Amino acid sequence: MYDGNLTLNTTSSTTVTCATPLPTVVNIEREVVNKSSVLADLENIQVKKTLICKKCSKSVQEVNFADPTFLCPSCLYKQKTTSISVDIQISANMEGNEQKLTIKSDVLEEFVNMIEKQELLKDIDALGDFLLLNGPFLFVFDGHGNVSKMEHPEVL
Ligand SMILES: [Zn+2]
Repeated sequence: MYDGNLTLNTTSSTTVTCATPLPTVVNIEREVVNKSSVLADLENIQVKKTLICKKCSKSVQEVNFADPTFLCPSCLYKQKTTSISVDIQISANMEGNEQKLTIKSDVLEEFVNMIEKQELLKDIDALGDFLLLNGPFLFVFDGHGNVSKMEHPEVL
């Protein structure tokens, strides 16, 4: 590091000194990603579905989807039932691995799009069954221990 700084300060050939360390940085990043991903079957799973009002972002306990409109009990705005957002969060434990998994809605959405099983988001019971019975899955973690990406190696 000190040598690098010295070169940058004394010569104008900064492009040469910058170009050398770059590939090293890329390699280190790749190693970290590999270390923080796990290929595992799920041992158990909890799927929580929350309906969220688009107007006030509060959760809505009960919505009759057969009804084309609903009244949000928090903001008291009446809206189209189709406008409600569905948030699905998964807590799970892997077989042979102590690390607990939390999978957020956006990660799950990207995953079902990738394996072309979007219909699973409409049926949390089927989603739980699918994830329990079709492993192993590859879970990629971000720096904070949350799942940032999920893959199904058999489908890819
Ligand atoms: Zn509302």
